[in-house]
Amino acid sequence: MNKQDLAEIKEKLLAEKINLETELDKIAKKNPHNPNDYEAQFENVGDDEEDSTSEVVEYGLNLTLEKTLEKSLKDVKKSLERIEKGDYGVCKYCKQEIDPKRLKARPTSSACIACKTKLKSM
Ligand SMILES: [Zn+2]
Repeated sequence: MNKQDLAEIKEKLLAEKINLETELDKIAKKNPHNPNDYEAQFENVGDDEEDSTSEVVEYGLNLTLEKTLEKSLKDVKKSLERIEKGDYGVCKYCKQEIDPKRLKARPTSSACIACKTKLKSM
């Protein structure tokens, strides 16, 4: 992969990272014992029974969203680490370079299209 493609992808990943962290900050707080872990916030909106029910529902939704965001953030961080190490864009199965077009569309891809297709048909 050429430097220009890599720079473009890195920029995308960094923007995505900020995006995800902003979203996570809205619904979760960082685990003080593990800076890579987030916990969904339980928002106290009121004390009567009806309020409590919607709180629980909202907490469940936040928890699901929080897990999804956290997983995406982890993928983004992993990709950025691989860029730093210089092994970004290599398929984890066949060790061939992944098509830069695919990486631009989905910068956290860790497998090439051929391997992904093979994996799905198995
Ligand atoms: Zn492959």
